[in-house]
Amino acid sequence: MSEDKIEITENDEKGLNFVEQIVANDLKEGKNGGRLNTRFPPEPNGYLHIGHAKAICMDFGVAEKFGGTCNLRFDDTNPVKEDVEYVDAIREDIKWLGYDWGNREYYASDYFPQLYDLAIRLIKEGKAYVDQQTAEQIAEQKGTPTTPGIESPYRNRPIEENLDLFERMNKGEFDEGTYVLRAKIDMANPNMHFRDPIMYRIIKTPHHRTGTKWNVYPMYDFAHGQSDYFEGVTHSICTLEFEVHRPLYEYFVKELADESYCPRQIEFNRLNLTYTLMSKRKLLQLVKEGLVAGWDDPRMPTICGLRRRGYTPESIKNFVNKIGYTKYEALNSISLLEHSIREDLNKRATRVSAVVNPVKLIITNYPEDKVETMEMENNPEQENSGTHSMPFTRELYIEREDFMEEAPKKFFRLSIDKEVRLKGAYIIKATGCKKDANGNIEEIYCEYDPDTKSGMPGSMRKVKGTLHWVSAKHCINAEARLYDRLFSVENPSKESEENGIDFRELLNPDSLKVVENVKIEPYLAEIAKPGDKFQFQRIGYFAVDPDSTADRLVFNRTIGLKDSWEKEQKKA
Ligand code: ATP
Ligand code: MG
Repeated sequence: MSEDKIEITENDEKGLNFVEQIVANDLKEGKNGGRLNTRFPPEPNGYLHIGHAKAICMDFGVAEKFGGTCNLRFDDTNPVKEDVEYVDAIREDIKWLGYDWGNREYYASDYFPQLYDLAIRLIKEGKAYVDQQTAEQIAEQKGTPTTPGIESPYRNRPIEENLDLFERMNKGEFDEGTYVLRAKIDMANPNMHFRDPIMYRIIKTPHHRTGTKWNVYPMYDFAHGQSDYFEGVTHSICTLEFEVHRPLYEYFVKELADESYCPRQIEFNRLNLTYTLMSKRKLLQLVKEGLVAGWDDPRMPTICGLRRRGYTPESIKNFVNKIGYTKYEALNSISLLEHSIREDLNKRATRVSAVVNPVKLIITNYPEDKVETMEMENNPEQENSGTHSMPFTRELYIEREDFMEEAPKKFFRLSIDKEVRLKGAYIIKATGCKKDANGNIEEIYCEYDPDTKSGMPGSMRKVKGTLHWVSAKHCINAEARLYDRLFSVENPSKESEENGIDFRELLNPDSLKVVENVKIEPYLAEIAKPGDKFQFQRIGYFAVDPDSTADRLVFNRTIGLKDSWEKEQKKA
């Protein structure tokens, strides 16, 4: 626990969100000795998703802002669902987002001894008892928010008997589900969480850190607040669904804390995104059933999925910043997230040429063996980003969609007798094409105007369209994975709940399209390493996938160039 007192000046309070304002006030009032210590408390039962990123930005961000510290605490109280695989992945994802918890890595399981001692103390003080009813019986007796619950017949068991039973529960004498330890609070309390909540249950599955040492495990409500206290956490920031747990949080914490130091829970709204879902349980199901390729499938809302897709930490943080923190549940548009990555990659991604759906273009008046070297701009958004060379030859590939034999008026790409510019090269005019028996175009013929070479005065001539291209002789084949939204409906969670549809039926069947023979320029093949990000001119942003080999590059389409967020904003 650091003893440094944080000074707040008036100036710092401008532009703060509501959580930061609370923190600033507490610091100003000198609460907790003027310390600020937050925590991010993931349960290692799955991979982190973009919703967790929102919590991480808050927990680490507020500590950073006011010079406090943020702990990473694994909330590992349920060995049945938890695993070290998740612990490692969580660490990696937080680091990737750019946050550092130093040596403040903790585990709720570190506090099992203290929590057990507290439970014993509460039993001795008559504030806890061992119940031996079934889970169903206990649930039935809970009552409803408007009708009081029924007291358990074991509620007034003598203290000695409670102590004996609880100790034997922990020694492993009883089967799972036979006994629980409950807090003896108030079965008529309007807050259901006060109706003798369960503190401990028996679990016989070995724990990934404590092995078979324990046979009883604390429930979330009996572990979280106390863990905050043991760690010196001052502000326990969590999502709105814990608001109703707060009185119980305070009830247990008061058993330990005094005025000199007491952790405080503050809630903000969860992140929900359109066309995806944030339930770890459902995401796990998608992974286990092979409905996606893994936790890091680029269609997943997981941090590792977004990373593989080509998202940058900055784009995620900018997005979180834009949506902000409030006290109201909301559904945020995924196109705002997409807007953020587009904005970021526009600044940083090198422009390259790749033809995703190639058709051959033959320049009939260009010499057979001639190769010219064209200089292509690396990034017009970045000063001094330089150029790279691209070979130009008689036979090129262009996008199939960029040619129409007979084009309507508004078609500004290539058609017979019409001119277009080949980016960074010449102006050409189509003269004809060759088709197969089914009418599919196999080759397009054109003539170039030698006076229109890029950079020369003749190139200033106005033409409506500019096409990207690669040299047929020099280009290299690569694979592109084109992703679309994971679900076909805006709010898959709501839709499946309200209409009784299995959420898996709402998956978008066209969320992945693999294109085998994308033609990429040689420069790209030379420099691309897994994780690198590029703009394929006129197509979109692509990231090099770790599946790439020395012989074959694989690209993930991060996002297309068209910004649907801006369109949505204009409509609104
Ligand atoms: P579970 O259902 O397993 O509890 P969870 O998503 O709440 O799932 P935790 O590992 O308990 O997972 O979450 C760690 C922290 O992340 C918590 O403080 C939680 O409030 C926060 N968090 C989880 N989901 C979101 C979300 N969608 N938006 C913002 N914060 C979130
Ligand atoms: Mg949780």
